[in-house]
Amino acid sequence: MEKCEGIVIRTTSYRESDKIIVIYTREYGKMGLVARGAKKTKSRLAAVTQLFTNGVFTFYPNRGLGTLQQGEALTSFSSIQTDIFLTAYATYACELLDKATEEQQASTGLYDLFYQILHHIDEGYDPQVLTQIFEMKMLSVLGLYPTMDRCAICGREDGPFDFSAYANGLVCYRCFERDKYRMHLPENVVKLLRLFYIFQLDRLGNIDVKQETKEQVQRAIDTYYEQYSGLYLKSKKFLNNMKNWDALLTNKPDEEDSD
Ligand SMILES: [Zn+2]
Repeated sequence: MEKCEGIVIRTTSYRESDKIIVIYTREYGKMGLVARGAKKTKSRLAAVTQLFTNGVFTFYPNRGLGTLQQGEALTSFSSIQTDIFLTAYATYACELLDKATEEQQASTGLYDLFYQILHHIDEGYDPQVLTQIFEMKMLSVLGLYPTMDRCAICGREDGPFDFSAYANGLVCYRCFERDKYRMHLPENVVKLLRLFYIFQLDRLGNIDVKQETKEQVQRAIDTYYEQYSGLYLKSKKFLNNMKNWDALLTNKPDEEDSD
């Protein structure tokens, strides 16, 4: 029997009363386990096999899927569990981590990052900013390394800079002419992209970013992901649709277009 600390990032129904759960663990990286009987409400495994559960899991390893023996929840992330908007952000973080990683490749750094992202979302920090930080930090996990500390074309370290998916990073004003596909962005947007890429999440203070700035940062990240990641995630699409409902809900009726 073995023990690990992890977070449930995917659950699938399996046979009549079982579940297969995928856990991202501190000790082994991503790992799938069969949880026998976990679909029965009275099962002692029912609660600990819910999506987002952070806990200590005891399992029998196997050649294929191991078998979950017991689990003990450490954190329930109760805000994420109960708020549909936070659920959507956390679901996307789970799916991105799932798609970007291989089984059984441990990375405590990535485990800690993922834990902190969920923890801060649950604590009420801006979920969109946290998701953007996670997206920028997941680039290296996906094998993508945009040049964010100097100009990707000439190597100079002083800006102003634009961001370019085409040039794979920052482009300084001297090189603007050489990259007509670059995204022309305000300086504070470029600074945030750079900050999200390099800074340590445990130093997160109260980041207060204007809605318009967040949207510009998002457009840059989405453009980069579309060009290089090869990922098309359902949860990302849902998140984008959700932002539209959010806009609809906060729109006053007299602001709507009339015929
Ligand atoms: Zn340059």
